[in-house]
Amino acid sequence: MKRPKSPGNDLEQGERINRLELALMSGQINRRTFLKVMAGLGLSMTAAGLLANRAEAINANQKRLAENLSGHYDYIVCGAGSSGAVVARRLAENPDVRVLLLEAGGNDDLPNITEPAQWPTNLGTERDWGFMSEPNAALDGRVLPLSMGRVIGGGSSINVMAYVRGHRNDYDGWAQAAGDDAWSYAHILEIYKRIEDWQGPDDPDYRGKGGLFHVQSAPDPNPIAPAMVKAADGIGIPAYDDHNGAMMEGDGGCAIANVAIKDGRRHSVAACYLHPWLDQPNLTLLTGAHVQRVVLEGRRAVGIEFIWQDQRRRIRAGNEVILSMGAINTPKVLMLSGIGDQSELSRHGIRTVQHLPGVGRNFQDHILVGGCIWEYPEGRAQPPRNNLAECTFFWKSDASLPTPDLQPFQIEVPFTNDVTARYFDMPESGWTIAPGLVRPESRGRIQLRSANPDEAPVIHSDFLSDPQDMRALVRAVELCREIGNAPEMREFVKREIMPGRLRGRALEDFIRDASGTYWHQTCTAKMGRDEQSVVDGQLRVRGIDGLRVADGSIMPTVTTGNTMMPCVIIGERMAEILQQA
Ligand SMILES: Cc1cc2nc3c(=O)[nH]c(=O)nc-3n(C[C@H](O)[C@H](O)[C@H](O)COP(=O)(O)OP(=O)(O)OC[C@H]3O[C@@H](n4cnc5c(N)ncnc54)[C@H](O)[C@@H]3O)c2cc1C
Repeated sequence: MKRPKSPGNDLEQGERINRLELALMSGQINRRTFLKVMAGLGLSMTAAGLLANRAEAINANQKRLAENLSGHYDYIVCGAGSSGAVVARRLAENPDVRVLLLEAGGNDDLPNITEPAQWPTNLGTERDWGFMSEPNAALDGRVLPLSMGRVIGGGSSINVMAYVRGHRNDYDGWAQAAGDDAWSYAHILEIYKRIEDWQGPDDPDYRGKGGLFHVQSAPDPNPIAPAMVKAADGIGIPAYDDHNGAMMEGDGGCAIANVAIKDGRRHSVAACYLHPWLDQPNLTLLTGAHVQRVVLEGRRAVGIEFIWQDQRRRIRAGNEVILSMGAINTPKVLMLSGIGDQSELSRHGIRTVQHLPGVGRNFQDHILVGGCIWEYPEGRAQPPRNNLAECTFFWKSDASLPTPDLQPFQIEVPFTNDVTARYFDMPESGWTIAPGLVRPESRGRIQLRSANPDEAPVIHSDFLSDPQDMRALVRAVELCREIGNAPEMREFVKREIMPGRLRGRALEDFIRDASGTYWHQTCTAKMGRDEQSVVDGQLRVRGIDGLRVADGSIMPTVTTGNTMMPCVIIGERMAEILQQA
């Protein structure tokens, strides 16, 4: 439905209308109040009435579907995150199939989620699984928080909204691992063009218009963002107008980031794919539904066991079960279901149904370093805009690499952690270029803590366990400092706060102290053909019928860049595969 144009500020108006719709849907206000406030905002009674009807229809539909829960659906999708929301929506587009979508978290109708600048306020709340790593040996035994979204939309509802596709070589590498050209860059680029509604200049070779996903270059960016693009260009990292076009096929470049923000509001995967479909009779979304294990009969998945409203339930799937619970909980649920490394399962008294030694292995994440930080000169502080992160660059730590392995991000506030904040004199107002490593060599592992589904798994993050990753991050810090101290940034700099001119061992110590997650946990149920692979190119769990995985865990190697959109692509591929099955 087209929203009526208003005279005042369109962004604010759109945001207010959206909030009111969500408030009506969740029962916080009634229809009368909704219509009254809408009239105050200048909407005609007809337009406001139509909006109210839709919000109420969704609410009533999902309430009715939940009250009449069936014991049998065609497909059960576990996890309503960046991949699962896509799979469920695409399956439900066929009116002849009935889809049950199970999500452990709750609703996403909160300003902490919808207002882009509020993204940090979700960390550590009930909307975050709050995973913690084991002590990470190469980081002086530090325990790392590894947040993941626990809410409708999963990570896409609490993340930083950077819309990043990944590099050509990522997908060609996946196609090779799977032995299936449908994963190649050429095919994936066509999917991207089909699903997006690009708001920038026409670029039919790279960008699509009219698709589901509204995407734009960060609108009206903070002046420090374009200044950084110029500064990077000045040291030989070429400037691009669009970081998701030709730039993601070559040696790197710097650009204003694409963001998943629409009308000033987070455009999560749930907002884009799921909510518009929740008024349909064949898509049931249960929130607060905690998946415990896959129900197997012999080697066939026939349903899901989960806890909902304090009761243990078993629901059958006639066609397929799809696991989309993210790269930490998907391998956990596989292992709890008897699918994993036999010795690992027997340690916890779990009977092995299928020995798959790769379940939980090959854990990958990008590393984001807290700092480098500069202080603004007095009176020159620029308030953060959009998602606080509007400029990024890709570059190689070593020119002989085939693909850029570094992706630092500018963050429009001082971004650090407890350890480094103790050593440096933090400014009242400042900004950051955070060095990022996006093709790590280090690999970690997820293991069960016990056979109890309520216990969080053991996460060996093993960041920097491969010495090559430290070498790459040293180069990343050097590049970020060169850019931040370049003449193009001078008007925004009173002084450099951290790390300053450190060298050798001192610089490595800084990196060890400042390294943390980029929140791109992936690769723990990898797609491929070797004996460590968990799924094949059709995303089928090896050795089990009727069970597939579609989320970040199937990546053989993590993509070069932020991982939300590659997870959307995995969801879209799952839908293509099931439509052809
Ligand atoms: C703080 C943060 C910032 C980030 N910033 C960016 C960014 O700016 N750009 C970007 O591209 N990426 C970003 N990411 C990463 C991106 O959001 C994730 O890679 C992506 O969402 C992963 O998708 P997924 O489908 O694999 O899992 P998720 O999106 O995590 O979805 C998994 C879903 O399954 C549910 N679930 C898990 N276990 C169970 C269970 N047992 N029962 C029922 N449901 C369950 C979860 O609650 C969740 O909703 C960020 C992530 C975080 C956490």
